[in-house]
Amino acid sequence: MSDAGYDHATVERRWQEAWDEEDAYRTPDDVEDPTYVLGMYPYPSGKLHMGHVRNYTITDAYARFRRMQGDDVLHPMGWDAFGLPAENAAKERDTNPRDWTFDCIETMTEQMESMGFGYDWEREITTCTPEYYQWNQWLFERFHEEGLVERRDAEVNWCPHCETVLADEQVEGEAELCWRCDTPVEQRELEQWFLKITEYADELLESIDDLEGWPNSVRQMQRNWIGRQYGAEVDFDIEGHGPVTAFTTRLDTIHGATFFALAPDHPISEALAEEDEAVRRFVEEEADPDGDEPNGVATGLTATNPATGDEIPVYVADFVLSDVGTGALMAVPGHDERDHVFAEKKGLDVVPVIAPEPEEGEEPEAPDVEEEAYTEDGVLINSGDYSGLDSETARERLTEDIDSAAEATQYQLRDWGISRQRYWGTPIPVIHCEDCGPVTVPEEELPVELPEFINTTGNPLDAAEEWKQTTCPDCGGPAERETDTMDTFVDSSWYFLRYVSPGAEDVPFDLERANDWMPVDQYVGGIEHAVMHLLYSRFFTKVLADHEGLEHREPFTNLLAQGMVQLEGEKMSKSKGNVVSPQRIVEEYGADTARLFMMQAAQPERDFDWSEEGVRSTNAFLARLKGMVEDYVSDEPAGDDDAVASYVDSEIDATIALATDEYDDLTFNKALRETQDLVRTLRQYADYAEPHAETYERGLSAVVRLLAPVAPHLAEELWDELGNDGLVADAAWPTAEVDRDHVTKRRRLVENTREDIRDIVEVAGIEDPKAIDVVVAPDWKYDALEIAIESDADNLIGELMQESHIREQGDAAADYGQDLQAEREALSMTLSPEAEHAALESAAWLIEREFEAPVTVVGADEADEDVLANAEPGRPAIEIDD
Ligand SMILES: [Zn+2]
Ligand SMILES: [Zn+2]
Repeated sequence: MSDAGYDHATVERRWQEAWDEEDAYRTPDDVEDPTYVLGMYPYPSGKLHMGHVRNYTITDAYARFRRMQGDDVLHPMGWDAFGLPAENAAKERDTNPRDWTFDCIETMTEQMESMGFGYDWEREITTCTPEYYQWNQWLFERFHEEGLVERRDAEVNWCPHCETVLADEQVEGEAELCWRCDTPVEQRELEQWFLKITEYADELLESIDDLEGWPNSVRQMQRNWIGRQYGAEVDFDIEGHGPVTAFTTRLDTIHGATFFALAPDHPISEALAEEDEAVRRFVEEEADPDGDEPNGVATGLTATNPATGDEIPVYVADFVLSDVGTGALMAVPGHDERDHVFAEKKGLDVVPVIAPEPEEGEEPEAPDVEEEAYTEDGVLINSGDYSGLDSETARERLTEDIDSAAEATQYQLRDWGISRQRYWGTPIPVIHCEDCGPVTVPEEELPVELPEFINTTGNPLDAAEEWKQTTCPDCGGPAERETDTMDTFVDSSWYFLRYVSPGAEDVPFDLERANDWMPVDQYVGGIEHAVMHLLYSRFFTKVLADHEGLEHREPFTNLLAQGMVQLEGEKMSKSKGNVVSPQRIVEEYGADTARLFMMQAAQPERDFDWSEEGVRSTNAFLARLKGMVEDYVSDEPAGDDDAVASYVDSEIDATIALATDEYDDLTFNKALRETQDLVRTLRQYADYAEPHAETYERGLSAVVRLLAPVAPHLAEELWDELGNDGLVADAAWPTAEVDRDHVTKRRRLVENTREDIRDIVEVAGIEDPKAIDVVVAPDWKYDALEIAIESDADNLIGELMQESHIREQGDAAADYGQDLQAEREALSMTLSPEAEHAALESAAWLIEREFEAPVTVVGADEADEDVLANAEPGRPAIEIDD
C-alpha cells in the first residue's frame, strides 16, 4: 500500500470512455418527470475556473446521487454564449466573436469532460446560434403582443469604456461602477426597449414567501429589489403651474414640509430651464443624481402646503428621480435625512412635527432636529388639530382629510431595459419605417440573423449597411433595421426550458414536456445572480404561464448559492494573479481528487480556502482506499462473524443512514466525513483482527458507492475490482436498516458508556481492571421514561404509580420517578432495552481493547438489586472488578 497516488490519468480516461459508450447520462424524452438538476450555464470565457468546478461538482454529485437512488435525472449543460467579452476579445485578436466563442466552448467542453461531469450532451444549447436566439426574438414579439414591451426615451446608464447601456443591476456600489470593467457609469438619454416587469411586481414579491427551497438571503435581496412601499400621493399647488403630485410614505409629517423639490427632468423643471439660466445650467450640467450630496437650485416659485396653507419654496433637485414615484417630493427636513442635508445646505427651515412616544401621562417632547433628522414614527406635534395623534392614525386621517390625498403604492423595481448598442447579442426584431414607425419583423421572417462582424469602435450593426437597409413589412417602403441587440439576460431567462426539447424547430420548448419536467428541482449557481437572473427568470416563467400555457409559475424549486473558492482568504481572480488552475490540479492529482477535496472542504454555501496540502491528503486518501480494495481482492480474509464483525456491520449501517441524509441536504462535506470515518473503522478492523469477509466487503462496497457521486472515476474502478457488473453510476444506492435517529442514540449510548468507565477507573484509581460488567436498566424504567416524556401531568410520580408493574418496584420506582421529575424538560427517548443490549454487546470489543479487560453486558434480570439501581435507559450501570 502506498500513499504516492495512483495512475489517475489512466483510470479517469478509461471510465470517461465507458460512460460515453454506455450513454450513461442520457435522459430519454419519454421519461415522465425526471429530477431536474441544473448548474447555471457558464459564459464561455476560455477556461473553466475553480468557481465553475465547484458549481458543477455540486450539481454533478447531486445528480449522480439521485440517479443511484433510482430517479430519472435531467442534468444538462449549455453556453451563455452572447456578451461583450467575446466582442472585445475578437477586437483584440482581430477575429470575430463567433469563432472566438466556439473555440472557448470547445476548450471548456473538453475540460468538463476531463472533470467527469455527467451531462446529457445531446441537450446542449448555445445561445449565440440562430436556432436558439430566434426564440428570444419570438418571445420578444409575444411579449409585445401582450403589451409587455414598450419603447421609450430613457435616461440610461452608459459605460463609456464598454460603450454600452447597462441595466441598473449592472451598476455596482455607491461609486456606480460598470459591473464588467469598473468604469464610473454616466447617464444618457436614448430610445430604448423595455420589458414591463413592473406589471408583475406584486406577484414577484408576494410569491417569494412560497419559495421555501431558496436561501433567505436571496429571497430578501429580491424583496428589497422590488421594494414595495405603501404611502400616499398628495398634490401641492405650484404658482403658475397648478397641482403637482408627490408620493410620500410619511404623510404624517406633512406639517413639517418646508420645501418642495422637482426632478431635473420633471416637465416643470424643463419648462423653467428654458427661461431661467440658473435652472438650465443645473438641469443640463450640474445635476448629479449619483453624487454623494444632494444638489439643487431655487426656482423662485412657491408651492402651497395643503395641510398648513403655507407657501414653501420650490427647488429643482438631483436627488429626486423622475422614474421613482412621481418625480416630485414634499421635503421634510426634520424627519428625513437627505432632506435634512439639503435644508442645511440651503439654510431652509427645519421643523420638528413628530416626537418620540412619551412615557405614560407625560407630554410629548420635541426631538432635537437641528443636528439630524428624527426618522422614526412617533406622536405628532406642531401639527394643528392632528397634534397628539400617533403617526399611523395621522397618516390615515390626513389621507382622508386632504382633498387631493389618496393611498398609493410605489416600487423600487423599474422596467427592464433590454436594448444594448452592441453586436454580440440577439438582434431586436424590429424595423424602423419613417411612415409606420417601429414595426416588429413578421414571425415567418424570424430569425433576424446577425450579419458578419465588422471591427469598428461603435456598434458593428450600425456599420453593417447592407444588413441594416431593408423594407418596411407594413408599407413596403424603405426602412432600417433596429441595430440594438438584447441584454443577454433575456437568453438566460428561459434557457432552462429549452433543455427540455433542445431541438424543437417550431416552438421555443415542447409545452407538454415542460409541464411534465419543470420546474428545476435543484438549481445551483453564484449569489451574484440573486437579483438579475433569478428575478428575470421568475418573470419570464410567469408570463409564459399566463400566455403560453406553461403550468408552472416558478422556475426553480430549490436554489443553492455556492460559496467562493478562495486563496489565503481572498477571492481568486486573474487580475490579482492568485488563481489555481483546475487543469493543473487535474493533471497532477486527477479530477476525483479535485472534486473530493472541494466537496469535503466546506458546506457548498460557504467560502473556503484552497489548500494544496488538503489536495495532497485527499489524493492520499483515495490511493489508500484503492490499496485496501486491492488487498482485499487479492487475499480474501477468513475471519469469524463475531461481535466485532457485528459492530462493524452496524457502523456500516450507521454511515449509510447518515451519509444518505446529508446527500439529500446537499451537505456533501458531512456525508464525506461519515464515509471517511467508515474507511477508518474498516482499516482499524483489519488491523485488530482477521476481518469477516462478507462484512468487510459490504463495508468497502458501501464506501465505494457513497463516494461515487463525488469521486466517480475511482469509484467505477473499485466497483469493478470488487467484482460488480455494470457501472457504479447505475448501481443502486446502499441502504441501511436503521435511521439517523437510531444511529445517533446508539452512538451516544456507546460513547457515554465508555466515558463512564473511564471516569470510574480514574476516580477509583483502578490500575488494572480484571473484568467489566455493563448492566442494562430493567424494562420498567424504559416504560417510566416514555410515560414521563409523554405526560403533561403535574404529579408525574402519581401517574407512574398508576402502572401496576411500575408500582410493584416500590422505593426504586419512587426514586427513579423523582429523578425523572427533576430532569423532566431534558428527557428524550432512548433505544429499546433490547436494542441497547445489542448495541453494547457489539461495542464491547472497543471497551475490551481500551481497558484490556473482558467485558460482559448484563441483562437486568441477571443483575444485583444495588447495581441495578444505578442503571438507567441510555446509561447502563458499570461494575468493575479489580
Ligand atoms: Zn464597462
Ligand atoms: Zn412602413
